[in-house]
Order: sequence, then C-alpha cells, then structure tokens
Amino acid sequence: MGRKAFISADQLFESASDRDFPVCTQVTLLHGPCNSGCISCPVGRYRHGDASPEVQAEFAPSSWVEMSWPVYTAVVDEVARHPHAWLRLHARGEPLMHPQFVDMVAYAKQSGVGVVQAFTNAVALNEGKAVAIMEAGLDTLECSIHGHDQTYEPLMRNGKYEQVKRNVIRFRKLRDQLGARTRLVVSAVDQPLLAPERAAHEEFWSQYADSVIYRPYHSWGNRIAGACGSMPEARHPCRQLWTRCTIGPSGNIIACFNSWTEKEEEVLGNVLDPDVTIGAIWKSARYGGIRSDHANGEYSLPCCATCTDWTGSSWGDNSYEHLLSSKLGLREV
Ligand code: SF4
Ligand code: SF4
Repeated sequence: MGRKAFISADQLFESASDRDFPVCTQVTLLHGPCNSGCISCPVGRYRHGDASPEVQAEFAPSSWVEMSWPVYTAVVDEVARHPHAWLRLHARGEPLMHPQFVDMVAYAKQSGVGVVQAFTNAVALNEGKAVAIMEAGLDTLECSIHGHDQTYEPLMRNGKYEQVKRNVIRFRKLRDQLGARTRLVVSAVDQPLLAPERAAHEEFWSQYADSVIYRPYHSWGNRIAGACGSMPEARHPCRQLWTRCTIGPSGNIIACFNSWTEKEEEVLGNVLDPDVTIGAIWKSARYGGIRSDHANGEYSLPCCATCTDWTGSSWGDNSYEHLLSSKLGLREV
C-alpha cells in the first residue's frame, strides 16, 4: 500500500491572522454547576443521575471549579491584543451561574475584545440580569432551548419552560427598548426527540431571535451513547484545531473542549505561567503536530481517538464565524 501524501496543516487555516492567533478563544467559566438536566449533555445526565459511571465521576462535587478572576483577565488581556479574535464564554455547566459573569463580560468589552459571545439556558435570565448583561456590552447571547411545548421537558428536564420563554421574550423586548447591541440567538440540539416539534420551535423562536440555529447532536467525546451514530468511514480534519483554543476553568490551555478531564497529553500550558502565552502555544510545534496528524488522517490526541464530534465541526459558510459576520453583522468576513 502506498504511503499517504503529506498535507500541510497550515493550508487549512482560513487566514494568516487565524494562523497567528485563534479566531475564537473559548473560556470555560466553570466545571460542574448547572440548573438543567439536558439528556444531550453529560452535565445534564450527571444532574439527572443517568450518566455513565465515568461521567458521574467527572462531575463529582469535589471536581467542581469556577474560573478565578486572575485566570480570566490573563486570557482576556491577550485576546484583546488581536483584533480578529473573538471570545466565547461557555462552561461545563451553566455560564450564568458564575458569580462574576456580568463583570467578566464588562471587562472583556472594556479591554477591547471585538466580539464576546456567551451561552445560557436562560433559566436564570431574569430582568435584572438581562439588563446588566446588555449594559456590560455582550455582543451575542445564545440561549440553548432544546425543545418546544411537548419536547422541552423530556429533553431539558428542568421544569422551567414557561419561565425560560418569559425570560427570552423579555430579553428581546428589553434589547429593543434599550437599543442594546446584544444579538439574540436561540439554538437547539438537532436530536431525534425534537423532530416532531422542530418546525414549530423554529417558527416560534424566529419571532424573537436574530437567528435560530440547530446544533449537531454530538457525543461530547463519546460521553453520550448513541449520539452521532457510528463513525463515518471517511474522516475529515476537525475544524476545532484550526479555529478554537479552549481555556479550562483553572487556566489550562487544552487542545480541545472535549478534554474535560484535562489529561496531561491534552494540556499545552497554563495562562498563569509567566512563560506561556496563548499565541505561542497556538503556534507551537506540539499544537502544529496535533493539527498535522489530523490533516493526514492520524488522531493521536487521546480525546480524538474515538470522537465523532468532528462530524459537526463546520467549515466555511456553516461555521459560527460565518453566523457572526454574515447573519449578525458583528465581524468583517
Ligand atoms: S443547560 Fe447546558 S450545561 Fe446544563 S445540562 Fe443543558 S446543555 Fe448541559
Ligand atoms: S475530533 Fe473531537 S476530540 Fe478531537 S479535536 Fe475534534 S472535537 Fe475535539
């Protein structure tokens, strides 16, 4: 059998700026706390008591951690120096449960980060929080609403659908009244149980959201059995490695968001180390080697070995960067 031709991983960067520094830095504000029980998410499975033993162990209360202010500001201070870079506030849990969430948004915007996007399940998005988030200058709030009238509760298992509807509709009204810049995105995981109500979900939320999107039903690194089906025969490189740099709640720079246990092989540095920068790690031989392996059909990173989530990593017009630029008008293409 002939040897496979070597593909340069650098060819897959979409611009020179993206090669220099990640277009998106994903900040994991916390590990553990959430107020929902989504069946498509390991955190929800843990909270509902139907996770695998491995996931139950990953979320034992002794593992819970909130990102500290020094870690957060170290990340933001570096991201702010790169005009093409945007910041994503996510969590292995519910980002709004971080007690400094609003201050974190304000700090990022005051520091000059061009686009700050955050996720929430909107359970705690009361009027005061909504106004504070908009006044802090958040650019995009993506509300995860995984079901509709009949499917919300079986899919999210938090008993709060009416409250969530009120919160999100009020957020939109307040946004318009205040003339705030915050774009509202509603998203759902495109999973089989949503199918009977997917069209109704889209029609309903299109009245309030600037964009309604459906995220691939993925396995979170094989933590959700059955998601994504089986591994397709032909595998393509995972876009995560060319566009996302994930910072764990304790400041570890990790090769992929799926590295929830932050194994040594998947940790590339820590932002509190004075000798480490995100930019240097991004351009390091180690990160380059991981990309090069993907580009050439080798999946050397432990979390990649059996992962199917790359099937949902969207290049080009289906990417989140495209949503932020073309649909929401927040970035130049
Ligand atoms: S709200 Fe988000 S973090 Fe919480 S269980 Fe649902 S998907 Fe997971
Ligand atoms: S293949 Fe999976 S584990 Fe590997 S970088 Fe992509 S999403 Fe992460």
